[in-house]
Amino acid sequence: MHCLGIESTAHTFGVGVVTDEGKILSDTRDVYESAPGAGIHPREAAEHHSEVAAQVLSEALSKAGLPASKLSVIAVALGPGLGPCLRVGATVARSLAAYYKIPLVAVNHAIGHIEIGSLTTGAKDPLVILVSGGHTAIAAFSGGRWRIFGETEDITLGNLYDMFAREIDLPSPAGPEIERLAGKASQFLTLPYVVKGNDVSYSGLLTASLARLRSGASLADVCYSMQEVSCSMLAEAVERSLAYTAKKELLLTGGVAANKALQSKLERVAVLHDAICHVVQSPYTGDNGAQIAWTGLLAYRSGVIVRNDDARVKPKWRLEDVDIPWRNSSA
Ligand code: AMP
Ligand code: MG
Repeated sequence: MHCLGIESTAHTFGVGVVTDEGKILSDTRDVYESAPGAGIHPREAAEHHSEVAAQVLSEALSKAGLPASKLSVIAVALGPGLGPCLRVGATVARSLAAYYKIPLVAVNHAIGHIEIGSLTTGAKDPLVILVSGGHTAIAAFSGGRWRIFGETEDITLGNLYDMFAREIDLPSPAGPEIERLAGKASQFLTLPYVVKGNDVSYSGLLTASLARLRSGASLADVCYSMQEVSCSMLAEAVERSLAYTAKKELLLTGGVAANKALQSKLERVAVLHDAICHVVQSPYTGDNGAQIAWTGLLAYRSGVIVRNDDARVKPKWRLEDVDIPWRNSSA
């Protein structure tokens, strides 16, 4: 069985093909780059996706060595994400499914990050830490769905880094550059550490970090301190969630999973609770079509499909609203 997955929720237009044994046959992407100092412009990103869609699709099929007519199922990320971007992926998926008469599956993008993490790291029943441009969430599986144990109350961890960078004209996405600058710091600066219950809040930290910089602190010191505080806040919420759920695995996934400071804090939390810390590796930290294909395949095998007419985009589709029949409910 072969599933083709289409990702277009934000900056990436990606297409991947996977087998039912979890072999990734292709994973092709083209990423929209925003103008310096600017975030993703939804209409421009959607135009980018429309321009590259045919090329990315045909490359993914040729790398997989498979004509579209031989696909068993097509999966598409219908949310959460930016409406204009989502509509490009949805249109491509519906057209393919209708033309070749192939079943269609709607995939939640966040679940895609979790499932590619499980596939590539071997995590079975983890406490998930999903950190990306669109998410900062701690989730555990229970009673047939992913349940949220903590999340951001305002901007995401990825947004914190990218918005900070935009204000000072660093190129975006800025996570790797902030991490590099942090490595050159000479001192830690006190910044607001805001954990409310099991949720985190990063907007005050963003304002205070920019204020520190404007009042003369070095960029390296601010990057280091902002990274330390933001990752420690999340690690605190993760530790409480781990103590409560008694899970024996952590799964760190999404674009910010590449951050070494975050990885090392979570590894220490895991050791304290006798758990293993799995970290998704590049290229599967970033958005990609393979994660949509693999999640679509798992869903399809459990009987989940969507009629073409019902395959509409859901920009605010939350991960805890998705039934997950392919995971063990008693976990
Ligand atoms: P995604 O939305 O999953 O594609 O992830 C993109 C986000 O990951 C952006 O906000 C990046 O700034 C962030 N990111 C990527 N690499 C790193 C890193 N090494 N450290 C921190 N953030 C990162
Ligand atoms: Mg993502």
